[in-house]
Amino acid sequence: MEKLVSLCKRKGFIFQSSGIYGGINGCWDFGPLGVELKKNVKDDWWYNFVQLRDDIVGLDASIIMHPDVWVASGHVEEFHDIVVDCKACKHRFRQDHLEGDTCPDCGGELTEPKAFNSMLRTRLGVSDDSAVETFLRPETCQSIFVDFKDVYSSSRVSVPFGIAQVGKSFRNEVNPRNFIFRSREFEQMEIEFFCRESEEEEWFDRWQADIWAWYLGVGLTESKLRWYEHPKESLAHYSKRTVDVEYEFPFGWGELQGLANRGTFDLTAHSKKSGKDLSFFDQPNNERFVPTVLEPSAGADRATLAILCDAYHEEEVKGEKRVVMRFHPKIAPIKAAVLPLVKKGGLAELAQDLEKKLRRKFNTYYDHGGAIGRRYRRMDEVGTPYCICVDFDTKEDGTVTVRDRDSMEQERIPMDEVAAFLEKRVGFDQQRD
Ligand code: ATP
Repeated sequence: MEKLVSLCKRKGFIFQSSGIYGGINGCWDFGPLGVELKKNVKDDWWYNFVQLRDDIVGLDASIIMHPDVWVASGHVEEFHDIVVDCKACKHRFRQDHLEGDTCPDCGGELTEPKAFNSMLRTRLGVSDDSAVETFLRPETCQSIFVDFKDVYSSSRVSVPFGIAQVGKSFRNEVNPRNFIFRSREFEQMEIEFFCRESEEEEWFDRWQADIWAWYLGVGLTESKLRWYEHPKESLAHYSKRTVDVEYEFPFGWGELQGLANRGTFDLTAHSKKSGKDLSFFDQPNNERFVPTVLEPSAGADRATLAILCDAYHEEEVKGEKRVVMRFHPKIAPIKAAVLPLVKKGGLAELAQDLEKKLRRKFNTYYDHGGAIGRRYRRMDEVGTPYCICVDFDTKEDGTVTVRDRDSMEQERIPMDEVAAFLEKRVGFDQQRD
């Protein structure tokens, strides 16, 4: 983990937030490469679960919602972590994260457990007395329930169908830790899938298969993934059944995403609190009912972290150590680097021209600094799948070499076929070999 965190900082994937002020616990910034990486994760998710499907539509709702949303959803009452404090060092811990009954930091005595609501409060309004207290959303899904009727009456969808949303969520986590695994500001990729109760098991199975396929599709190693079924007695207040996908991080197994059967809890609760009917009217069958909801709920940061961990490899090549990030090409932040063998002899200009053409379609990079071997290594370290080298033969016959990051093999292809070569390999429509 230490090596990865240091690479992420050094190469511009992820930095501590507010670093020059000493940082702020639980908040992270995605640098130039990190923003591309996480964007690819979110875009690939959207591509697979929204664009390719005719039964899911998208939504981008506001982060701040009416305070009653959080009363109806049960968050004001139930969104608690049970915490204990150390009487000696004053550190606070989530009780369910403790192994013994003394402070893991100093061995001190712990207080009695108490409930701590982890929603972040905020005030909306310009004057002190008219401001309304509300919350930064702790999950993206509530707006999907609240907008359920607006979406289905405006989009010609019919049960079974889903609404997907990607966006920020906030939780005042007691112990943010393990890099971006548990932070206070993070991004979720959530779907609420509305179906008939009679079909819930069939859809649950299908969702499990689709979720599994997506994690394999972004390149994660299958043996590092597993399902965890929550025992009935520890299910959240809204859930009939929950399973999690877990990934084996360097710090142990951790949840990547949940899949919960939320039944009719949310639509019923919001109907009651708002006084607005959120049932679904099935016109062909002349039938009105409250659909059952299945919720695949993933974290964009956790998926990104798993992808970073899985990609990290150290190897020895001709007696030298090489660090290579083996990202799936569709997830890699830079798709191709264009490198002139040397700067002189018109090669730099030729390479720059090629790179300018390619960047209209792909995220590319141009570099002429240092020996070619060093430039290849730099691209390996940030996971660029292809390096295109412009050399003296290019001037003669118009061909370039394409070096494959993983095999390090090179092939010569005509310069005007590079775009088609990349097109076949780096798009979201490319699944794993
Ligand atoms: P945990 O038990 O780890 O606190 P959770 O079960 O409360 O997680 P959910 O409420 O099911 O998490 O949220 C759905 C997804 O959102 C999680 O699977 C995870 O990917 C992501 N997520 C939740 N909390 C955080 C966080 N603090 N930091 C980063 N991602 C998070």
